[in-house]
Amino acid sequence: MSAAAERIFERGKKLLKEMVAFDTVSHRSNLGLIEYIEDYLNSNQIPSYRVVSECGEKANLFATIGPEKEGGLILSGHVDVVPVEGQAWTHDPFDLVERDGKLFGRGSCDMKGFVSLALAAAPEFKQMDLSRPVHLAISYDEEVGCLGVRGLIDDLVKKSLRPGMCIVGEPTSMQPVVAHKGKWSYRAVVTGLERHSSLAPQGVNAVEYAAEAITFLRKMHREKIKDGARDEMFDLPHTTIHVGVVNGGSAVNIVPNQCTFDFEFRYVPADNPQEIMDRFTAFIKNDLEPEMKAIDPNCGFQLIERSVIPGLNIDADEDVVRLAKACASRNDHGKVAYGTEAGLFHSMADIPTVVCGPGDIAQAHRPDEFISLEQLRKGSEFFDRLLGRLATQ
Ligand SMILES: [Zn+2]
Repeated sequence: MSAAAERIFERGKKLLKEMVAFDTVSHRSNLGLIEYIEDYLNSNQIPSYRVVSECGEKANLFATIGPEKEGGLILSGHVDVVPVEGQAWTHDPFDLVERDGKLFGRGSCDMKGFVSLALAAAPEFKQMDLSRPVHLAISYDEEVGCLGVRGLIDDLVKKSLRPGMCIVGEPTSMQPVVAHKGKWSYRAVVTGLERHSSLAPQGVNAVEYAAEAITFLRKMHREKIKDGARDEMFDLPHTTIHVGVVNGGSAVNIVPNQCTFDFEFRYVPADNPQEIMDRFTAFIKNDLEPEMKAIDPNCGFQLIERSVIPGLNIDADEDVVRLAKACASRNDHGKVAYGTEAGLFHSMADIPTVVCGPGDIAQAHRPDEFISLEQLRKGSEFFDRLLGRLATQ
């Protein structure tokens, strides 16, 4: 490794240990960690500002290195992590431990690893005479529907600061990723009418109507597998439709008056999620609700949006893809099934965005999550090459 890559690696490793120690599980405040990052940036004379959540308990952070002008590059990552409850960790998840060439800790891979390296590279960017800015965008609540970053992107659009490109450093084992599936998820609340089960036809059975709706989702899923839109670059080349939670009923001798179920679809770029949703709502309106409402007009379905994450699909010829490939020193690119903030940067602010970061996504969200030192090194080299490319611009 070059001297600069070595510096980024060593500094990044130290920052990662300190950042993992902040328990930033999504439902908790992240302000302690944000303050820590602000202090670090301040000590390197890098200005930053917060975009605070409505509740005031969480914040995004946006920092700019170099001139305050259009163009340039955003390096983006989230600092919230998924919970550890119920997972069999062999040590404290919030104390980064090095063992067998791996760094174990919650968020080491997803994705404090990338954020640490970006912060470690910041003083190196600072020393350069940049002709275009390098921005750091650090967000909260990614793991619960990419909620936090929306405020940050809104703010960017309002300020009409138009960064030219963005790299979201989710763990891709340093492969540039040009597309990911979009995700729409909903909760269905089915309202029925309670009766003694011996009088079942006089009631409206919320569980059974929910079951019919779920069966319809299942049927649409089968159609997607058989002859839906396909993109073979994805692991699962088609759109998937899935029900994850069902709750309803209290006793076998009571016609249940309520049932809820949560469902999602993750769609390939060639599919239209609105069409899926329209078909589902038409089935409910035409086939289920008339029968329910004939018994009691208050019965029926309510569909509540839970999270909508747009997909990402950018041209492999975009400058940001070329840049990521050059910095990762590889020519291939991929497409992934999981959602990221990249789709939001692209769809909300029209910023060409690629996903590329250290660590293996297979490690994310698991007990004993880790990032290998090898991946951290590759990430350091990525930033070193990025420094080289920005120096010549
Ligand atoms: Zn992540």
